[in-house]
Amino acid sequence: MSEHCPICQHPLVIQDERLYCASCQRDFAAKAICPDCDRPLQLLKACGATDYFCPNGDGLISRKRVVFRPLIESL
Ligand SMILES: [Zn+2]
Ligand SMILES: [Zn+2]
Repeated sequence: MSEHCPICQHPLVIQDERLYCASCQRDFAAKAICPDCDRPLQLLKACGATDYFCPNGDGLISRKRVVFRPLIESL
């Protein structure tokens, strides 16, 4: 599953917690979404690692399964 640029619909590349559009050459803050319930995840930061926790009962979500969506700050 890949996300697309909200401006030009180019596929976005995930870089850390950001989504980068090679076409617009800009990046977007990403929001971590639970793959099971489609709700925002809580970020738990500890010792340089980030864990993703679903507050809706799905527990800890492996980073590989986290869905990142572009967070539109200002358009
Ligand atoms: Zn774009
Ligand atoms: Zn969930």
